[in-house]
Amino acid sequence: MNYDPTLRRKTPLAHILGDRIRRQGPIRIDDYMSACLWDPQYGYYATRQPLGAAGDFVTAPEISQIFGELIGLWATVVWRDWLGRPQPFTLAELGPGRGTLMRDMLRATATIPGFHANLHCQLVEASTPLIAAQKSTLSQCGVPMSWGPNMSGARAPAIVIANEFFDAMPLDQWVKSERGWARRSVELDDNCELQFATHPTTSMRPDLDQRFPDAAIGAISESQRPEVILGDIGALNHVGPVVALIIDYGHEKTTSNDTLQAVRQHQHEHPLTSPGEADLSAQVDFEELAAEARKVGLVADGPITQAEFLGRLGIIERASQLMAANPQKAASIETDVARLLAPNGMGTRFKVLALRTPSLPSLPGFDVPRQDITK
Ligand code: SAH
Repeated sequence: MNYDPTLRRKTPLAHILGDRIRRQGPIRIDDYMSACLWDPQYGYYATRQPLGAAGDFVTAPEISQIFGELIGLWATVVWRDWLGRPQPFTLAELGPGRGTLMRDMLRATATIPGFHANLHCQLVEASTPLIAAQKSTLSQCGVPMSWGPNMSGARAPAIVIANEFFDAMPLDQWVKSERGWARRSVELDDNCELQFATHPTTSMRPDLDQRFPDAAIGAISESQRPEVILGDIGALNHVGPVVALIIDYGHEKTTSNDTLQAVRQHQHEHPLTSPGEADLSAQVDFEELAAEARKVGLVADGPITQAEFLGRLGIIERASQLMAANPQKAASIETDVARLLAPNGMGTRFKVLALRTPSLPSLPGFDVPRQDITK
């Protein structure tokens, strides 16, 4: 790994942020992350298409088509057996990247009677280059689609899918100091380079003392503040049934660690090294996500690991079918599936949480020990 915590590259956004800090003082971590991802001129997602082997990182749907196919079939079971085949209904995806997951979901579900005829696809995306990529990937799908920067266009009943979306939410961080929990920020050091700082005089959080009474000095508490997007999903719940499937890397229980990370060209680097030119993300706190979902009237199933979820959905059987049908690709199908299920990698680092309207029973994959939806 090429990780130099002292390296600061002179990106255009590093200059802009330096000027801003000189004028206004230290900036919060969530403001830093928002600028790095969404500055209209130099933000990472605002200006580029970062996914895939030629980009900076690879996601599960980009590794194997089986990922999207299984989630598509999961959505058809929910639509048919949990929601009672509503007509019409919304299939929403948060942060669809290149559109690969939605394309694979739609391809796998094309023959399910009534599913495509009644669905409206809602793609929630804020990146102009990625909207263009999604439109191109999905141009042949033949179902009505609309794009928007949030969920406001979606209607219930709805099935919402989010893979690697919540890890990109701008993160607020707090550091335990001698004088209590203080907000972490980004400021300039003596050489005018970006550095992390905490100033235990302003913005203290006494509630964190109660929450983490044993935290050591230097411990970090984080929040992705998922309440806005969960509020939109919860609002749909007042109109009709809603189901959401959230897949991401993260931890089951709230921790007091710094999980902010930067990835550029498939290498980890320090989050202050390349403002605007590296993907910044943080581990999803599934305990926080489930708690916020409950506040907006939803029930949470899970989280379970990605390996458990895909296993229950029949990934091995689906891979065997594909390998038998494409013997020349069998080795690569096996490698890709092994990567999605890896016990020390994606299979356990990634978790799956499902949210639902309380009147619905536990969702497929979360209800019974095993369910093969490929049959
Ligand atoms: N789900 C895709 C892409 C993951 S990358 C996959 O699995 O391959 C994160 C995606 O979320 C990108 O499409 C990014 O532009 C989008 N995104 C991140 N934050 C967002 C926000 N606040 N509003 C809308 N889209 C966002």
